[in-house]
Amino acid sequence: MQVKVSRRKFLQGSVALSIVGASSGCLSFDNKPKKVKKGERKKVATLCEMCVNKCAAFAYVEDGKVVKLDPNPLFPKSRNMLCARGNAGISALYDEDRLKFPLIRAGKRGDGKFRRVTWDEAFEFIKTKLIKILEEEKDNRSTFGFCAGEGMGEHNFKSFVGAFGSSNWLNHTSVCLQSAISGFGLTLGTSGTADLQNADYVIMGGANRAEAIVTPDTMDMFKRTMGRGLKLVVVDPRFSNTASKADTWLPIKAGTDLAFVLALTYVAIKEELYSKDFVEKHFNNFDKYKAHILKNNYTPKWAAKIT
Ligand code: SF4
Repeated sequence: MQVKVSRRKFLQGSVALSIVGASSGCLSFDNKPKKVKKGERKKVATLCEMCVNKCAAFAYVEDGKVVKLDPNPLFPKSRNMLCARGNAGISALYDEDRLKFPLIRAGKRGDGKFRRVTWDEAFEFIKTKLIKILEEEKDNRSTFGFCAGEGMGEHNFKSFVGAFGSSNWLNHTSVCLQSAISGFGLTLGTSGTADLQNADYVIMGGANRAEAIVTPDTMDMFKRTMGRGLKLVVVDPRFSNTASKADTWLPIKAGTDLAFVLALTYVAIKEELYSKDFVEKHFNNFDKYKAHILKNNYTPKWAAKIT
């Protein structure tokens, strides 16, 4: 069966979808809970949307209001973990500055003046603007921003952006880990994921996981450090909480991580401490890379003067 959708109809539907996506965030919460008696507490399974991990939780609801969150021990990824930020999801949900209805700018850009409009008015406003872009601009330079944090609705919104024909997309990742993903992509061709649940040896630089990234995989790692199967080496000028939980702390000078990594690479290549099989399967131009490292003599002695 072929379904014909006019561009106008498509935009109507998609814009509605996007605005709903953009207005969500903090908690995936069923906003039409089943009737419970006054004062009765209801337990609702939900997902935390305060970050990319989407840990599972139970929300306790009294008189239509979330009053407490608990981790969900049955969820395989988070396994009974809900971090401090996840628990703060309740505050985000009921924050007095949280947008609950659409606003359209009423003054000059930067004046901070907005007027409240209905959803229909907002859809119409956006639809008119988008159709104008499609009709007037040959090269579609529109940029879409998803500013509702780490919501699940983001993916609908992103699909809409692709269908609209724009490659300019900003979201949580743009101001978070996109720099790391792009850096890895440009140098190594891909960005890997650390298997902290099974790793035997972890060298951690540029991350302070005990304070800043208390995610399920961080917890997997800390359960196995300090003589419990995984050796953790933390490279950080400060004796952070993460450094205090490490087997070895290497306080190198700030901004010298690259010299440290180049020296490690030099030793690994020179002493052939790498898996040739892995390199053969997954590396492009390894010989060029190897020649570059050896030719520049990135020895530990060279790095020691810098770090
Ligand atoms: S790591 Fe914390 S903030 Fe992120 S989804 Fe899990 S509980 Fe929520």
